[in-house]
Amino acid sequence: MSEGIPDLPAYDDAALDKAFATLEAQAREAAAALNDETAVEAFRLEWLGRKQGRLNEVSGRWLKAAPPEAKKALGLRFNTLKAVVEQLLESALGSVQYGSGGDAALKAEAIDITLPGTRRLTGAEHPITRAMNEIVTVFAALGYSVGVGPEVETDFYNFESMNFPPGHPARDTQDTLVVANQERRPLRDRLLLRTHTSPVQMRTMELQPPPVRIVIPGKVHRNDAADATHSPIFHQVEGLCVDANITFSDLKGTLDHAMKALFGSAVKTRFFPSFFPFTEPSADVQISCIFCGGKGCRKCKQSGWIELLGCGMVDPAVFAFAAEKQPAYDSKKISGFAFGMGVERIAMMKYGISEIGSFYAGDMRFLGQFV
Ligand SMILES: [Zn+2]
Repeated sequence: MSEGIPDLPAYDDAALDKAFATLEAQAREAAAALNDETAVEAFRLEWLGRKQGRLNEVSGRWLKAAPPEAKKALGLRFNTLKAVVEQLLESALGSVQYGSGGDAALKAEAIDITLPGTRRLTGAEHPITRAMNEIVTVFAALGYSVGVGPEVETDFYNFESMNFPPGHPARDTQDTLVVANQERRPLRDRLLLRTHTSPVQMRTMELQPPPVRIVIPGKVHRNDAADATHSPIFHQVEGLCVDANITFSDLKGTLDHAMKALFGSAVKTRFFPSFFPFTEPSADVQISCIFCGGKGCRKCKQSGWIELLGCGMVDPAVFAFAAEKQPAYDSKKISGFAFGMGVERIAMMKYGISEIGSFYAGDMRFLGQFV
C-alpha cells in the first residue's frame, strides 16, 4: 500500500530525476499487479485521489516547499509523472474490463487468420488437348485452318466417300461401332461412330472448292479392346491439302517440317509404301527414335525408328465423290495429299507415358503433372 512520500533531499536535476523515477517505478509496479476493477479503483484513489492521493501529496509538499528557481523543473517532472499514472490507470482499466473478463467472449468471436484458405485448383489443359493443340499450331503456322465434324457419322462420309466401297475388306480394319436398328435405311445413310476424322475431309470439300488446307483434330471410336496402347476412344489429327500441282514432295516436306517442329530439329523422317483406301500412293512415316537418337533402344525395338503416321496422295476416287457437289475437284486439274496421326501416341511419346489408360483415368496425381 501507500508508501509515504519522502522529503526531497535537494532540488537539483539529479535529485529531482531520482525522486520522480522512484515514484514512477512504484506506480508501474502497482499498476502491473492490478487484476480486477476494485484494485484499479484503489490504485486510482491511491495515486490520483484528490485528498490522500500521492500525486496530491507530491504537489502539496514538494512544490510548495520548493524554492522559486526549482519550481519549474519540478512542475515539468510532476506533469510527466501524472500523465504516466493516468496512462497506467487507463490501460489497467481496459485490461480488467476487456482483457481477462471479456476474454472468453472475444475468443468465441475470433477468426483464426492463420488457417489456410480453401485453395481453388488452377485448371490446365488435359495432355491430350495439349498435344492436339500443339499439332494444330504447327499446321496453323503453315496456313492450315481447323475443320470439325460430327462424331456420329453416316456410312457414306465415314466409308463410302473415303473409297471404302460396301463389302470392301478395308472396312474390316476399322472395327466399327454402329448405331442399332437401322436395317431399313440405305447403307450409305446408316449411322455409326466415326472411326477416323477423314469424313471431315469430304464434308469440307463439299462446302468449298480448292484450294483447301485443313487440319482436323477430333475424337474417334473403334471397337478395339483396351490395352496399354489401345483405347476404343482415341483422338486423331488429320490433314488435307488440295490445290493445283500438289506433289508427293510437298507431302514429304510438310510432314518432315511438322515432325521437326513437334519433336525437335534433329528428328529425321522416312517414308514406306503402305495402303489406305483414300490415298494412292500411300505411305507410313517413321521418325528417327527421339529416345536414342536413332542408335537403337528398347522403345524403338532397337531399330532406331518409330512409326508415327500415315499419309498419301488423295485418291482420284475421293475427288470424284467431292466433285458431285464441287465440280472443281477434277483430279485432272488438281491434286492433294492427306495425312493422319494418333494424338495419344504422340502425347505418349512427347510426355513419356507408357499406359494410354492414364489419359482417361481422371487421376489428379497424373493430370497434375501437366499444370
Ligand atoms: Zn530408340
